[in-house]
Amino acid sequence: MKLTQWLESRLARTPLPWTVGEVRIYPGYLLIHREDAPEDCRLRHLSGWEAFLDLVRFDAAGRFRPLRGAPGLQKGWRRGPLSIAELFSDLRVLYPEAVALLAAWEGKRLAPTPFSDTARRQTGLYEVTQRLPREELPALVKKVCVRGCLRHPLWHLPEPRPDNQERLTLLCPEACHYFLHQARARAAVKRAA
Ligand code: SF4
Repeated sequence: MKLTQWLESRLARTPLPWTVGEVRIYPGYLLIHREDAPEDCRLRHLSGWEAFLDLVRFDAAGRFRPLRGAPGLQKGWRRGPLSIAELFSDLRVLYPEAVALLAAWEGKRLAPTPFSDTARRQTGLYEVTQRLPREELPALVKKVCVRGCLRHPLWHLPEPRPDNQERLTLLCPEACHYFLHQARARAAVKRAA
């Protein structure tokens, strides 16, 4: 099944509201920030692709958002009505691979990668992440992933499972580049201490 078809049928069997990260999808499909109201006539209609990309890349203060899963998406806009293919494309920009990961997880085709495996593959600047003490990992996950990201770090949980099959959970099967960057900094501090 194509991912667009999978998304359509997943939405059809998911109770409203349909929330993905910081956005909400209304039947039709209308896409807005989850803290905005669809009937608010002040919402800026974002029809252009470039304007939408800018919205995703930069926060309200114009700062680049290095982590798409981090909270901080601007409010005050709307997209739609969209076709299912357009909705899929928009979600892919907002939260890369989120639909594919959820489909794979629910189809039991997604295996999380433990941090030790991810670190072992690193070379060059990031090789030092292999020396991050194991006991440092939970605190770093709490700071970077739990407090700073909307994705669900499957790779760190003792029994990785999304909390609720009815929710459109953002999944993370492997430590991302942003996390590795933070792990590298923490490991370097530990080495210098
Ligand atoms: S590793 Fe953490 S910060 Fe990176 S995408 Fe996954 S949950 Fe988010």
